[in-house]
Amino acid sequence: MKDDLDCDVLVLGAGPGGYSAAFRAADLGLKVVLVERYPTLGGVCLNVGCIPSKALLHVAAVMDEVSHFEALGITFAPPTIDLARLKAHKDKVIDRLTGGLAAMAKMRQVTVLQGRGEFVDPNQLNVERADGQTQSVKFKRAIIAAGSEAVKLPFLPKDDPRVVTSTGALELRQAPKRMLIIGGGIIGLEMGTVYSTLGARLDVVEMQDSLMQGADRDLVKVWQKMNAPRFDHILLKTKTVSAEATPEGIKVKFESADGTPAALPEQTYDLVLQAVGRVPNGKKIAADRAGVAVSDRGFINVDIQMRTNVPHIFAIGDVVGQPMLAHKAVHEAHVAAEVIAGELLGDAQLSQSAFNARVIPSVAYTDPEIAWVGLTEDDAKSRGIKVKKGLFPWSASGRAIANGRDEGFTKLLFDDSDEAHGHGRILGGGIVGTHAGDMIGEVALAIEMGADAVDIGKTIHPHPTLGESIGLAAEAFEGACTDLPPARK
Ligand code: NAD
Repeated sequence: MKDDLDCDVLVLGAGPGGYSAAFRAADLGLKVVLVERYPTLGGVCLNVGCIPSKALLHVAAVMDEVSHFEALGITFAPPTIDLARLKAHKDKVIDRLTGGLAAMAKMRQVTVLQGRGEFVDPNQLNVERADGQTQSVKFKRAIIAAGSEAVKLPFLPKDDPRVVTSTGALELRQAPKRMLIIGGGIIGLEMGTVYSTLGARLDVVEMQDSLMQGADRDLVKVWQKMNAPRFDHILLKTKTVSAEATPEGIKVKFESADGTPAALPEQTYDLVLQAVGRVPNGKKIAADRAGVAVSDRGFINVDIQMRTNVPHIFAIGDVVGQPMLAHKAVHEAHVAAEVIAGELLGDAQLSQSAFNARVIPSVAYTDPEIAWVGLTEDDAKSRGIKVKKGLFPWSASGRAIANGRDEGFTKLLFDDSDEAHGHGRILGGGIVGTHAGDMIGEVALAIEMGADAVDIGKTIHPHPTLGESIGLAAEAFEGACTDLPPARK
């Protein structure tokens, strides 16, 4: 056992939530220890999630784009793919970002401990280091940012490199000819995009009645139409019931969700990706020894200051609940760090910090991208909320047409309740098209600021941009858009 380390704040987990909490706490003047089981900082997002997948999706999008250039009079030779070099590129991206985090931790004098952390009591955590030594850390406050991991289906072969989660898929060990995606959510469809552009034919099996749950169907429809050629089969309301590793591939059997035989008989795949959701890591940190309550599913309940049932222990990120998104974790991290600094340094204003974001945007970085924030149209319908829509089709956008990508649209949803008198505030928005994810932040800002259609429509957006479609959708709502045919009287 190494000598005790003492600190003001112990942060457990160095993903986007954990490192942001540690850095914010250090910037506010606290002594911080950051514990991470893996050798690099950045967690799933930087090492095996958001960032590496985007490095590969960018390559896939460029390959797909130039493949259509022949029609424009520009011809390239068919691509040759060197998987090892592509993987090296992806690893370089990760190294640059995680290396940057290590340097910034040093600049802030955050002590980083590598090893598996478990609570011992409400004021101590032990870290099992890679060299076998145990380091104990005493803390005044703790922030649990232990994240989540991919759900593993029990009937899939274990330790077979042809059966992967998103982590394994990002290792790019193979270029499969036939790939099965189990789970038609964001991870499945993003990774499917990469592998299909690299040459794989795709099947997807989804238990629910549609792909990409959560987004409005009209947005998903645009993606589905463009991406249909990537798929041999899209099996909805279907589950995978067995899988067997054979020398020829992974043999998979399906069944309809209602127990009747599936539309597709047994198939053999070179690669099977399981992307059926993530489970929080709340049960892996001996939280009970600190008195922190963890639900049966592994979530830790917190209040709007990110405080657990133990007043000096906080929790943030995937471990506190859905949506499991890095940008949510970062905001929660700042709140926890500020509340702690406020309490320890006697700063009343900081100690009032709270997570009170109205909305959290979602983005599927598929091609086209799908982004949405706030109330969705499907949600409004099912909850009986009266909304009126402003929609701008990109077939009327000069920039989208110039880019050869006019399949998308931008829609904004405004409060249409009687009290709004036809001038309701924006409640939600959705965009499908290239770079939709880069634009949805403006819609989130409009919702946070309580903007109405006039605020958005009268804001001068640069022309010609895809972003101006947001202003134009607001003008369409007002019946004042001159880039569309006249509104019907
Ligand atoms: P998900 O929950 O988004 O989708 C999983 C899908 O699998 C669901 O549609 C579900 O109905 C289906 N499913 C579950 N069990 C199944 C089974 N046995 N057979 C067939 N289908 C089944 O999960 P995900 O795509 O794995 O993503 C996990 C988390 O990571 C999500 O919280 C997501 O928000 C986050 N994430 C976000 C991004 C992003 O923001 N771009 C990217 C990747 C992951």
